[in-house]
Amino acid sequence: MKNIIIFGAPGSGKGTYSDEIVAKYNMGHISTGDVLREQIKAGTELGKTAQGYIDNGQLLPDELMIDILADAYDKFPAGKGVIFDGFPRTIPQAEALKKMLAERGHDMGMMIELVVEEEVLMARLLNRAKVQGRADDNEETIKKRFAVYHSQTAPLSEWFAKEGIRNTFSWAELGSKEGLVAFCKGLQAAAPVDSFATPIPGDMPGYDSQVIMAAGAFVQGSTMELSADGPIRPPYAVY
Ligand code: ATP
Ligand code: MG
Repeated sequence: MKNIIIFGAPGSGKGTYSDEIVAKYNMGHISTGDVLREQIKAGTELGKTAQGYIDNGQLLPDELMIDILADAYDKFPAGKGVIFDGFPRTIPQAEALKKMLAERGHDMGMMIELVVEEEVLMARLLNRAKVQGRADDNEETIKKRFAVYHSQTAPLSEWFAKEGIRNTFSWAELGSKEGLVAFCKGLQAAAPVDSFATPIPGDMPGYDSQVIMAAGAFVQGSTMELSADGPIRPPYAVY
């Protein structure tokens, strides 16, 4: 299985999308945010360090993140295929990921970039705050996270383009069927797999259905569509 890098701003749907793919294909999943939150909960030294950065909406130092990532990756059997969710977030992290994988005879596979308008992101994150109670999902910290995303993480998009593995899905520009089909074809070419039908993630109806449709085509076949207010419509064929 190919590795997949899910890339996008806070709240763009990286975790939700990863969960769908992981559930279906039993791939590995590394969410660096989740790893750090677990460390905080367990009260480890790393957790204590992480807390200060996270509460402030800042990124942890690259060296630290790179070590964490390599350790997490090596826990999976070689060749299983891992989804990287929340990593890399800087160009040094991306270079390190590429090197780490090359040392093991692996590669980055494909990158999927989720582009969502900031207003939508903010609304989703504030809603998530109510559901999940994440301390960094408050308006002030979210704004900092957006700023950090723009200055440190967004430039990576071009880096992935140069690597030839970027697949960008934009709600605003490609949120039509034609756009989606074009996007799906790109994914299909990048990673043709077998059939796929998906359950529905709960918290971002409407928007996530688009991602899921993209995922459905990426792994070929048909998938479900959600209406804006949640209920499932009949299976929706992407092709
Ligand atoms: P979402 O989960 O909705 O995509 P997010 O991307 O802001 O939101 P996480 O990926 O969970 O959230 O990350 C939470 C915080 O953990 C970040 O704001 C940052 O402080 C820290 N963090 C996570 N991954 C990294 C990383 N690769 N490099 C540096 N810091 C990180
Ligand atoms: Mg996440």
